[in-house]
Amino acid sequence: MIAVYPGSFDPITLGHLDVIERGCRLFEQVIVAVLINPLKTPLFTVQQRIEQIRCCTQHLTNLEIDSFDGLTVTYVKNRQAQVLLRGLRVLSDFEYELQMAHTNKSLLPQIETVFLATSNEYSFLSSSLVKEIAKLGGPVSHLVPKNVALDLE
Ligand code: ADP
Repeated sequence: MIAVYPGSFDPITLGHLDVIERGCRLFEQVIVAVLINPLKTPLFTVQQRIEQIRCCTQHLTNLEIDSFDGLTVTYVKNRQAQVLLRGLRVLSDFEYELQMAHTNKSLLPQIETVFLATSNEYSFLSSSLVKEIAKLGGPVSHLVPKNVALDLE
């Protein structure tokens, strides 16, 4: 079974990496798909984000890293994947994620969204929080992979 894990990953955090590692244990293949979103102004380019993910996932043999634009379900269909992988941190995530899961199912009925509950130590962690701390000169090495901490510095 192939799972697509879509997101902005601007940048990848230890919370994302935890979901990726656990997903790789559950599915035959996981595709991390970086969304090219013209409505957002990211800190890192898509190419930089792909490189950041590649650098910290060398140990995962059943992982592929890619980028996409347009509808997530179109990408999922083109890749012949059966599962959309997403992470859940807090209750506020749930409302948005459930709406997305229902929307995606209405567009592509055969798709199943699988949610992985965040590991406890990463439940507060988001890319925006990391960027805010880094901007204010705080330490982020306990929140992101080593290579990303260097990029943020
Ligand atoms: P998006 O813009 O699609 O929300 P993100 O990169 O912010 O992209 O998140 C991608 C996915 O990873 C989402 O399902 C999000 O809930 C999940 N995620 C983000 N941070 C964590 C974390 N610390 N623990 C578990 N899941 C997370």
